[in-house]
Amino acid sequence: METAQVRYVMGTTATVRAWAPDSTRVGAAVEAAFAAFARVDQQMSTWRDDSNLSELNRSEPGQWVAVGPDVSRVLAAAKEVARLSDGAFDPTILPLVRLWGFRGPEVAVPDSGSLATVLSLVGHDLLEVDEPEGRARLRAAGMEVDLGGIAKGWALDRGKEAMQAAGATGGVLDLGGNILVFGPEPSRQVGIVNPTLENELLATVPVVESAVATSGQYERFLTIGGRQYGHILDPRTGWPVEGKVSATVIAPGAMIADALATAAVVLGPDRGLKMLEEAPDVEGVLAVADGRGGFVLMPTSGFLLPR
Ligand code: AMP
Ligand code: MG
Repeated sequence: METAQVRYVMGTTATVRAWAPDSTRVGAAVEAAFAAFARVDQQMSTWRDDSNLSELNRSEPGQWVAVGPDVSRVLAAAKEVARLSDGAFDPTILPLVRLWGFRGPEVAVPDSGSLATVLSLVGHDLLEVDEPEGRARLRAAGMEVDLGGIAKGWALDRGKEAMQAAGATGGVLDLGGNILVFGPEPSRQVGIVNPTLENELLATVPVVESAVATSGQYERFLTIGGRQYGHILDPRTGWPVEGKVSATVIAPGAMIADALATAAVVLGPDRGLKMLEEAPDVEGVLAVADGRGGFVLMPTSGFLLPR
């Protein structure tokens, strides 16, 4: 049996499709996945004041906050991706996200003085995580953590686990650009969109028993003085990543795929591809402007691009 549900969660549209031997279990599996997503939102959203992460973000510098095993695990993973990407991915990015106006109320290109001030609060080394104790602390006043580049992937991994516990034999989970496929039943083609024409596909890839994440500067943006500024920021310069670049990453787990896709957008084709090549069991492709109005797809060596 097979069933699917679409709901709005974690600020995006989520689709969950489940396979199970009977209708009771397919229904239970779908509900279990959405319950897992709701739990992650309750723990890690920075859009709600009552999340564990918001509690950390309000804490005094140097003070340990009991964020729980899940949040501390994702924080530790985010710091690991920060290290792998030489700081291109940075979970302490939120003050910069706010400065540009991505959280409202006003959008503006910041002056260099406020950029420098805010950049001094962005740095993954200033976030300390004590994973065994399930706690974390911020070293500087004004720091804030944003798990927007990794938490959807984590939610998919937890959703899969919950579905299997509820008796699902297979599933396809789709959460705002992140997809996780498990079990023998689903066969899924994932499209790589043209970063300038969102409904045009550059290529499609088959996905079996793995996760795919796509990050794109075109997904969310601000318009200031007629110019578009994308939501993925470079923590090294304080500016939004230039150009209509996107990255698609395939990995065994959705959390790592999510974080690496965001990191690859910041790093760009050369260093981004190098990072993906070095990560075990990870493949990916970057779509970058070719300078003539088109796009080139730059895949890792093991990425099979159908022609
Ligand atoms: P994603 O859609 O997974 O690529 O994540 C993008 C989101 O991650 C943004 O909307 C921000 O909330 C956050 N973010 C932006 N820039 C970075 C960065 N350099 N490192 C980590 N997270 C970021
Ligand atoms: Mg991401």
